[in-house]
Amino acid sequence: MSLVARSQSEPRSAFVIGVYRDVVIVGAGPAGCSAAIHARSVGLSVRIIDRASFPRDKTCGDGLTTVALRELAALGIQPASVPSWRPIVGVRITSPSGHVAQLDLPTDGTCYIATAPRSELDEQLLTVAQNAGAETSLGTTVTDIVPRGDRWVVATSSGEPVEAAYVIHAGGARGLPTFKTGRPRPATAGRDELIASRVYLDNTLDLDDQIHIWFHDDILPGYAWMFPSGKNTANVGVALHTANRSPSDLVAETERVLESDWLVGLLGDSATRRAALRSWPIPIRPLPDPADGGLLRLGDAAGLCDPMTGEGIAQALTSGRLAVESIFQHFDRPDLAADAYRKTIRSEFTADYRTSRILLWLLRSSRWTRGAIRFMGSTQWVSRWFARWMFEEIPRRAVLSPAACTRSLRSPRGVRFAGADEASP
Ligand SMILES: Cc1cc2nc3c(=O)[nH]c(=O)nc-3n(C[C@H](O)[C@H](O)[C@H](O)COP(=O)(O)OP(=O)(O)OC[C@H]3O[C@@H](n4cnc5c(N)ncnc54)[C@H](O)[C@@H]3O)c2cc1C
Repeated sequence: MSLVARSQSEPRSAFVIGVYRDVVIVGAGPAGCSAAIHARSVGLSVRIIDRASFPRDKTCGDGLTTVALRELAALGIQPASVPSWRPIVGVRITSPSGHVAQLDLPTDGTCYIATAPRSELDEQLLTVAQNAGAETSLGTTVTDIVPRGDRWVVATSSGEPVEAAYVIHAGGARGLPTFKTGRPRPATAGRDELIASRVYLDNTLDLDDQIHIWFHDDILPGYAWMFPSGKNTANVGVALHTANRSPSDLVAETERVLESDWLVGLLGDSATRRAALRSWPIPIRPLPDPADGGLLRLGDAAGLCDPMTGEGIAQALTSGRLAVESIFQHFDRPDLAADAYRKTIRSEFTADYRTSRILLWLLRSSRWTRGAIRFMGSTQWVSRWFARWMFEEIPRRAVLSPAACTRSLRSPRGVRFAGADEASP
């Protein structure tokens, strides 16, 4: 980050209710921890509040795109510190017709995709934030956020209010449903979301470093996945679009995938479920306004997941960095900080989201999906390009521009992590 350190730990006015911190962060997921680490790097005082105690599970596919890897590297995360971290070398996509496209990633010694269980990754992120000097209140729920002059008062289940110049709302897809800021609540995604389920399966066959995606007719424009998560453990799930499917459909479709020849062929018939199936929404419609004065919304709380794939870790991490850059540039003027954040979120994400929305719409068609998957696997160049594009090394919008496609072919930019090889099983 190109910011110069400065300390802002003094409140701007003398009368403080409870404790004062420059930034209070609601939620210690990737968005909240990214914001905390960046905020500490520029000398802001930070309190992170999370209702969970860590390590905690987050229902997720555990897949890390190239952008997520870049952000994690910038935060100082080392793969070796995440025990089940697994670098991925290729993607195998099965089309509704059963045709399989093998997409191999470049073999240039860098990492383009990895998997890391969220219980381990998020705990490591929190540790880095704590080591950087962020205070934490874990097992503590934020119950309200109330404006008070040019500051905010954050009420918690512990009874101790914290006052702050800025509040970062990184509480995820369903965090803080009812807080009373005194302003109108932003419209939530409602019916325009993905919903996704996930289950871990242990005792699988030895799994190679490939991730598997299955588009089949009953779940389009959604898909099923199998991501290796350690040598004999798999993360399996299904994502559906809520425009045409309900949560009970999701459970039924996931059970079907779990019994399918596709999955049994990959995992063997001795695989066992570690725990019950879990489902959670994936917000894919960005809030019209992610900022309200000094209250900035990040990650899932701002609806920033990719509409086509549902990935949101990269966006959560990125929005944490962007929020702190905006706050730091305009610390004494929350209105300007909010404006800067709005603009930067728009320029970072809008074009890619528009492209993903078009692709989500096209994926409703089985015929189009079959054709696209055949094309993806047609030559080694094409398949390598799509592997990089699908996992966000190449921006989504490049697929609509021949010039951007050609440019990206010349310069693959994977992430070099010291220690990644040692961490792989
Ligand atoms: C089944 C499924 C599979 C997915 N697979 C992938 C994938 O493979 N790759 C990918 O990139 N993305 C994936 N996603 C999306 C990804 O999980 C999210 O985008 C990501 O977790 C968003 O991070 P976040 O920090 O915004 O929120 P979260 O990770 O949800 O963190 C929010 C935190 O806020 C805390 N919190 C909430 N409310 C309060 C409160 N009132 N007080 C205090 N604390 C609170 C919660 O305890 C939590 O720790 C998947 C999502 C689902 C549902």
